[in-house]
Amino acid sequence: MQTLLNGLAHMSGLRDRDAMDLALVTLISKSGQWPVSEIRLLFAVGALDDQRWLARGRMHASHAAPGPDHAWSDLSRLPKLSDFPSREAAIMTESVVRCGGGPFTTVFPIETQQAICSVLEVESEQALTPVAIAAMESVLWIYQNLQGLLDYGEKDSLTELLNRKSFDRSFHRAAVAQEASAAHGGPDRRQGLAQGTYWLAVIDIDHFKRVNDNFGHLIGDEILLLMAGLMRLNFRLHDRIYRFGGEEFVVLMRCANHGEAAQALERFRAKVEEYNFPKAGSITVSTGFCGLVSDDTPSSAFDRADNAVYYAKEHGRNQVCSYPELVQSGALKELVQEISDADYFF
Ligand code: GH3
Ligand code: MG
Ligand code: MG
Repeated sequence: MQTLLNGLAHMSGLRDRDAMDLALVTLISKSGQWPVSEIRLLFAVGALDDQRWLARGRMHASHAAPGPDHAWSDLSRLPKLSDFPSREAAIMTESVVRCGGGPFTTVFPIETQQAICSVLEVESEQALTPVAIAAMESVLWIYQNLQGLLDYGEKDSLTELLNRKSFDRSFHRAAVAQEASAAHGGPDRRQGLAQGTYWLAVIDIDHFKRVNDNFGHLIGDEILLLMAGLMRLNFRLHDRIYRFGGEEFVVLMRCANHGEAAQALERFRAKVEEYNFPKAGSITVSTGFCGLVSDDTPSSAFDRADNAVYYAKEHGRNQVCSYPELVQSGALKELVQEISDADYFF
């Protein structure tokens, strides 16, 4: 019992989702309360018509430490949602599903704020007793509440995209991964990992003030919500999408190269242009993007992408502008130089 309480206390002190997921599977498998041989915390990821199971945490009784699937897993290598009827049944019925005849599998549905399908799957040599199942449900209840608190701190309340506050931490992780990838002589090519480098895009809605002025704030808010939905559909699982405030969004993407990043952003620009928004009809966005570079900071990378947005606005809006291309063509001055010049005068 003491180990279980310590595990819960440890989990409640965490502010990092990955760490909390690993703490949950460790807690259930190592608390000594239940005869668990393997445990998996699974989330449905990918396009709606081709969803896959990603393990955010898994632990085998014989392993000392838990581990997740790699955050940049190649989705096509992950198992399909439809191959696991018991997991689907747990989600559909919102209740615990038990199957197998030794080893036994017990599947617990997990509720998340964004309605992402998620389950905890427990394997055991003996069937779990009703008391054990009820206790695990209580642990999951605490976990869900803690996740809700994290959402509250990290998410924008209107769109439920990530907020600006959570950007810095993700950025630093991406920058570290980018450095590591560069140090190993290029993108990560280990089995099952999508390869690539990191790109930062700033996306700003064109003439949004007019939308509010003409149709009111409520319609404006609805358009922001729809825009967030379009972004979720357009970008990939491992791309992180933020609302930076107002009508400005940021996407931190991992793409194979400059062309792939430009293509994803252009695809989004075209989708927005085609979309029929309530009252306002057609709305467009201007986008600027840049790659992460050595010694980058969140603000220096943001400033480069924002400079490219400014250029897009000045040159007709409704377009995607690449900071490195603009600098290479001479259309924009290299920003690093400008910053150090400015610093000199302060
Ligand atoms: P530009 O094409 O140059 O970006 O023009 P713009 O009108 O989009 O840009 P500007 O920065 O002048 O105005 C942004 C407007 O976004 C101002 C405000 O009316 C609107 N806005 C900011 N936050 C919100 C919000 O949370 N809800 C709504 N409905 N509108 C917002
Ligand atoms: Mg705008
Ligand atoms: Mg703006």
